[in-house]
Amino acid sequence: MSVDAAWARRWIELAAAEVATQRDYLVDLDRAIGDGDHGENMDRGFSAAVEALRLAEAGSVADVLKTVAKALMSTVGGAAGPLYGTAFLRASKAALSLSSSDGALDGAGVAAVIAGALDGIQARGKATTGEKTMVDAWSPALNAARAAAEADGDAAAVLEAAACAAEAGAQATEPLRATKGRASYLGERSIGHLDPGAVSTSLILRAAAVAASRGGEAQA
Ligand code: ADP
Ligand code: MG
Repeated sequence: MSVDAAWARRWIELAAAEVATQRDYLVDLDRAIGDGDHGENMDRGFSAAVEALRLAEAGSVADVLKTVAKALMSTVGGAAGPLYGTAFLRASKAALSLSSSDGALDGAGVAAVIAGALDGIQARGKATTGEKTMVDAWSPALNAARAAAEADGDAAAVLEAAACAAEAGAQATEPLRATKGRASYLGERSIGHLDPGAVSTSLILRAAAVAASRGGEAQA
């Protein structure tokens, strides 16, 4: 099974709903080691992305991801806005160069989209793994996605592997000391808390997997 533009739209709608539901949780996480705005930022950004998609033409996976990137960049603010904006922009570019003639992505295509997202985040934020940022969710997600794609996993299997790895990666940020972003100002005191951006990444990638498992019946 592959994923198409309808999947990408379902993904962003589910991500927006999940971010809205978890808004206060993300706020609490960011209050502990940041300034407490991450839940609000993400909720505003994903609501704007859903609204932008409602107004946009159907398009391809790449078109959907580009619309999302623009909406996030112009509404999220903080550190996360440019980071997620660049992630979705690079993901869109990857989707454009890899998709089949009907615009759909197979397992390897999905892994390439996740690689594009991580590339964008690292180009912007210069963080590597272990610095207690969203990279600690995206990077294991990419490794798991590549492994699943190499094992001939279809798009849904690759997304499921990525979501599970992102969740584990987010949980694994708890004992880390932040060395990038606002949380790094706390030094040792950042230890013992989950990174808000890693947690929001895990919510977003879980939404991508759910969107594939729910709509896959209708796709090739
Ligand atoms: P701000 O820190 O400006 O208030 P947010 O609260 O919206 O922005 O986002 C904070 C999240 O951004 C962090 O939890 C972390 O995951 C992510 N982040 C911050 N700096 C970087 C960076 N340099 N690279 C990757 N992610 C980062
Ligand atoms: Mg913040």
